[in-house]
Amino acid sequence: MMMETHKKYVSQFTMMGTVISLTLFEPNQTAVEAVYDYLQRMDEVFSVNRPDSEVAAINRYAGIHPVLVSTACFRLVADAIRYTQQYPTSFNVLIGPLVKLWKIGFGGHQVPSAEEIQQRLALMDLHEVILDEAQSSVYLRQPGMQLDLGAIAKGYFADQIVTQLQQAGIEHAIVNLGGNVKLLGVNPLTADQRWQVGIQAPEAPRGYPALQVEMPARTVVTSGIFERYFKIGNRQYHHILDPKTGYPVENQVDQVTIITEQSELAEVLSTVAYFEGPKRGAQLIEPLPKTEAIFIDHDQHVTVTSGLTPRRKGVFTIE
Ligand code: ADP
Ligand code: MG
Repeated sequence: MMMETHKKYVSQFTMMGTVISLTLFEPNQTAVEAVYDYLQRMDEVFSVNRPDSEVAAINRYAGIHPVLVSTACFRLVADAIRYTQQYPTSFNVLIGPLVKLWKIGFGGHQVPSAEEIQQRLALMDLHEVILDEAQSSVYLRQPGMQLDLGAIAKGYFADQIVTQLQQAGIEHAIVNLGGNVKLLGVNPLTADQRWQVGIQAPEAPRGYPALQVEMPARTVVTSGIFERYFKIGNRQYHHILDPKTGYPVENQVDQVTIITEQSELAEVLSTVAYFEGPKRGAQLIEPLPKTEAIFIDHDQHVTVTSGLTPRRKGVFTIE
């Protein structure tokens, strides 16, 4: 049987502090530019580093007045609040004040005092967030409260981009937002039409994935502690913070990869499963449809959920 010939068309750009790459299997500069423009607009809405973004305005007017926001902003904030209610011990979109206090990954870090941490924890109460859907407004009632969408936003963008590509008539694509991967359609370059996604291990050099997973169109999202952290003596402080204690989570997990259909959900679950670890994390993932997890611990020991079938050394497959 002759296969239709396809080539890869890879576009790359740097945005949102990370490398964005879009792989298409047909030349389509219009689609590439639409993705670029979309992310540019989203950066203008969501960036906490731009004083004029909508999220920056919500944070700046905390304790002062509600802020009118775009539909995209309202939706993502509402989703993030809903996930915070669902996973209160691990995921909290109000973690902004703590992230700013620790400054992990941004230089000038130090271990804050217990008192400073307590003050920040007091600013993370969901009851102090007022969402008004009719107005499309968000109000943080206490001064000092701050939204941080860092653990969810890229997933939302990946989902939106894939929908937009589909609407533009594109059938196959790989969207990679700084390691958050979302696949569209079947792989036109392999005989079995499945995709192979490499999972980068914390200790392995870039480009040498520890594991390969063969799958249909899914999203693959990893949360790990190897990219942003600082060390004082033997103690490592990393950027996933415990919303109950205010300190970086301490456990045996190096990274968690979630494979599922919706990238926004994958982002949240990767943080939640990171907290829960391979045992409770797997219990939480198993009942979810079309959702799998891969845990890698500090000793490079790998634990996977039941939908990941080993094929050969380092290779798993998902039906
Ligand atoms: P990365 O940015 O490396 O992809 P994650 O997706 O795991 O990492 O998100 C980590 C970011 O999410 C942190 O930099 C911080 O802004 C925010 N964050 C940290 N801890 C939490 C938490 N417990 N709940 C929600 N957001 C968090
Ligand atoms: Mg994440």
